[in-house]
Amino acid sequence: MAQQVMSQRESKMSQVYGRGCQIAGCSQLRKSGKKYCNKHEHGFHLKGDPLQVSIKISSLQRSTQEIQELFESNKSNPSLGDLKLALGERWVHLGKAVDKYLQQYESGIAGSKGQRKGYQVLLSLLKNAPMDEVLLLWSSFQRFEDDMPSMFVNQRSYKHQLVKHIRRISHFIDPALINKRTGKPIVKYVPEMSVPEVNTVYELLNQVFGVTGYQFSKAISKRVDAKEELDKRVRAALVGIT
Ligand SMILES: [Zn+2]
Repeated sequence: MAQQVMSQRESKMSQVYGRGCQIAGCSQLRKSGKKYCNKHEHGFHLKGDPLQVSIKISSLQRSTQEIQELFESNKSNPSLGDLKLALGERWVHLGKAVDKYLQQYESGIAGSKGQRKGYQVLLSLLKNAPMDEVLLLWSSFQRFEDDMPSMFVNQRSYKHQLVKHIRRISHFIDPALINKRTGKPIVKYVPEMSVPEVNTVYELLNQVFGVTGYQFSKAISKRVDAKEELDKRVRAALVGIT
């Protein structure tokens, strides 16, 4: 039965996609049931899209710094305090939702494997990363995307790259990546992540932080504009001094 379902899927796919990998310029054959060849299929699971570049933590540095400067200059602004309190409450709710799901999963209520892994990543995150660190990463990503939208091939690859870093700061160890003989984790710098895992982590964190980072980004852009305006006035005034 499963075989038949697969072959129906594959025959539909070959009608739509033919036999070749769907990446322009790639001459490899498409993997059965997939849109891409081996290499590009691998890229899909590593980066969210075969054509997506990896967003390294160093490329986020500028955005992170801008967010930190915004926080610093609003240190005594009660609005920032209120915001953090409200986010903190949502963070607590997230913890409860994660516990509840994992308990249900243990008691046999069905959920997909990828979804469960997403919840396990969130459990690690809640245990190992303070909310402020997650907020900073989340907001830095939104600021980065707002500032340089061309860095992301599509929404899916954006989510994938963000969740990859969330996973990194969660210190999650994939049980599948533990060496059965030595009991030590197998070091893998870029984990492959499935779509349900990425979506689970993203959607639940989105319920906590939402568009917060985009709002920060708007505030940062305004500050940059104001500074440039001031610089222009200073330059204009200097020219006038003889
Ligand atoms: Zn290919």
